[in-house]
Amino acid sequence: MIDPATVQKIKDTADIVDVVSDYVHLVRRGANYMGLCPFHNERTPSFSVNKSRNFCYCFSCHKGGSPINFIMEKEGVSYHEALLHLAKKYGIEVKERELTNEEIEQQTRREGMLVANEWAKNYFTSNLLQKEEGQNVGLSYLYGRHVTQEAIKAFALGYAIDRFSDYTDEAIKKGFSLDILKATGLTGTSQNGRNYDRFRGRIIFPVINTAGKVVAFGGRDLKGDSAKYINSPESEVYSKSRELYGIFQAKGDIVKENKVYLVEGYLDVIGMWQSGIRNVVASSGTALTDGQISLIHRFTDNVTLIYDGDSAGIKASLRGIDMLLAHNLNVKAVPLPEGDDPDSLAAKLTPQQLKDYLKENEVDIIRFKINVLLDDARNDPQKRWLVVRSIVESIANISDKIKRDIYIQECSALLDVKESSLSSEVAKARWKIVEQEKTKRRSEELQKDFSKENVNPGETISSQLRQIDEKTLSSPLYPLERELIDNCLKYGFVDIFESEGSESETVQVSVIEYIAEELEIDNISFTVPDHIKIFNELLQLLPQFRRDLKENDNVIAGLIEQKRKEGYETIGALNLSVNEIKREENSLEDRLSSFAENERERFAKNYILDKFGSHEDDVIRNNTNRALVEKHQLSSLFKKNKSQENSKEKIVSLVISSLNILKNGIIDIQLKMLMEELKNLDHSNEDKERELHSRISEIISMRSRMAKDIGDRILCPTNLKTNNRNAANK
Ligand code: ATP
Ligand code: MN
Repeated sequence: MIDPATVQKIKDTADIVDVVSDYVHLVRRGANYMGLCPFHNERTPSFSVNKSRNFCYCFSCHKGGSPINFIMEKEGVSYHEALLHLAKKYGIEVKERELTNEEIEQQTRREGMLVANEWAKNYFTSNLLQKEEGQNVGLSYLYGRHVTQEAIKAFALGYAIDRFSDYTDEAIKKGFSLDILKATGLTGTSQNGRNYDRFRGRIIFPVINTAGKVVAFGGRDLKGDSAKYINSPESEVYSKSRELYGIFQAKGDIVKENKVYLVEGYLDVIGMWQSGIRNVVASSGTALTDGQISLIHRFTDNVTLIYDGDSAGIKASLRGIDMLLAHNLNVKAVPLPEGDDPDSLAAKLTPQQLKDYLKENEVDIIRFKINVLLDDARNDPQKRWLVVRSIVESIANISDKIKRDIYIQECSALLDVKESSLSSEVAKARWKIVEQEKTKRRSEELQKDFSKENVNPGETISSQLRQIDEKTLSSPLYPLERELIDNCLKYGFVDIFESEGSESETVQVSVIEYIAEELEIDNISFTVPDHIKIFNELLQLLPQFRRDLKENDNVIAGLIEQKRKEGYETIGALNLSVNEIKREENSLEDRLSSFAENERERFAKNYILDKFGSHEDDVIRNNTNRALVEKHQLSSLFKKNKSQENSKEKIVSLVISSLNILKNGIIDIQLKMLMEELKNLDHSNEDKERELHSRISEIISMRSRMAKDIGDRILCPTNLKTNNRNAANK
């Protein structure tokens, strides 16, 4: 852990223009800088960098955030790693805080496993190169398969001695704990309690992650064992679905060539590598996963599949297509001659011939799919129809509309289907995918949000609602709460009202205080745990903000004094009549006081971004960046009323609207609950029925008052102040 003072120093030092400039060529545009977005492919710049607010944003793909967010996103690293990255960039010395016992245990265990794996890798290599059995069995096999010494070194290939516990005994002698060896999966324990080696008499392929750490091993059998390959099990350092074999060796070339070849096997990677094609990785014989595709996407947008030239290989290459397309990658395939795999082809051809073959035979993946499927369907109309369906599915996964249209045009010719019908089928399928995505994302968010542990006690409306929500997992309140929380993050510390304090002095009331008070009066609280957390953090930050604001006020006062002096001097030099002077002076004072107000407001808005935009807590940081970055998209509510210029009025209007819309949502749900109760009521219970009826009518009239209120407020937000506070206090 990095100590908080250093974290603060890193946050203070990291300059967004500077950080982004390491990746993007920026051009100054007015107050901002613009460049080509590093997160998606584009020809015209939509990536904007705001120096004064210290964040960046892509208007097209909506990625961006603070310097830390940018590095996390761009380098694909954790919060902690992003901090270290920035510390290194700025030469800030990092003092790590002392870890808790639990953290130490976790970290040392992971590190212990990695150290053990590193040692194992070296041990297996020395078996292969130096021991007699390794040379006779392992090395001669590899040479027989044309694997060069250079490749053996580059991929750190090794050999596991064919004995019950050769590796385990040696590792224990070296001082590794049995616990760690078992955690890595290299050692197992048999039923009678003996410890054995997982890999015996096999060629060893270390699986190395992007950071160069050995996270797992693959082992190829040499004795005709039923399992040709075995692999390390999943562990704290190895998640199979997130690793690709060869990524460490290939990543530089993938970036350089802006392309990756995806093959199936360990030896395919090595074979291509030996032929000079070094941007190759393998999925190791399993179906591609989202995690693997994201890993690829960190380095390039262009993927070419080269799977075995038999029917299993072709099927395998068809399997991952839709997922690759959905990730917005440009996908191609190279069909291989039947019976060949990339390794055998590489062995048959010279490096130049292989290069030419790949170049000449590369086809677009959808065309590849059509060819393969149509070949199979021949003249069977039923099968042809299935081919069309399957192609429609694939095209629908592409998010770029223009790309979809191009495919539709081409495929209509290839499949002999009218373009218009293909197009409408794709549109339908696309709609389904988008809807599914939405539902999925929503339910994921809700699953996270409604985890029980964060729920506040108390029998409020909110807690009743929460119970319903836990059952249905779809809170209609979620978007309403989020709108309000976003307004808190955007404007929370802006003062919107003056109120009478205890000693009849005026007290400023900020957005966040106003909302807290309103919620309390109506006995409402946020229901989504993330929202509760953000709101509480904001309230806790408020006292510090007030102190800092006071300091800032002094700075502003100094500025004003100076501007006033200059202003009066200018007026004095103008040779005006007394009335004209009065007028000029009044207008100067107006300008000065609106300057002061704007500066205070700016300070308040930036304060939250400053404190929360790089916050260590994912929920707080992500929501802050999202809310503040979406700022240019004015709330749809607000678009109805463009005429007002005063920003404080805008804020008041947005805040009150979102508050009332939330309340209205809650009332709606209460109403639904009461109606439900009424429906299920045993009608002999007249008292209860009467009570329900009267509560329902009460709520209905409350709702219509509220609806009117919301309408009024959107239309004329200026005179809300007194109205609303009176209404709230009634
Ligand atoms: P070789 O050329 O030595 O036969 P290969 O890489 O061509 O090896 P394939 O049968 O094409 O072998 O399998 C491709 C990949 O699938 C392998 O590299 C391995 O990662 C994985 N694999 C194959 N068989 C198994 C198995 N029985 N268990 C686990 N993984 C396997
Ligand atoms: Mn092979």
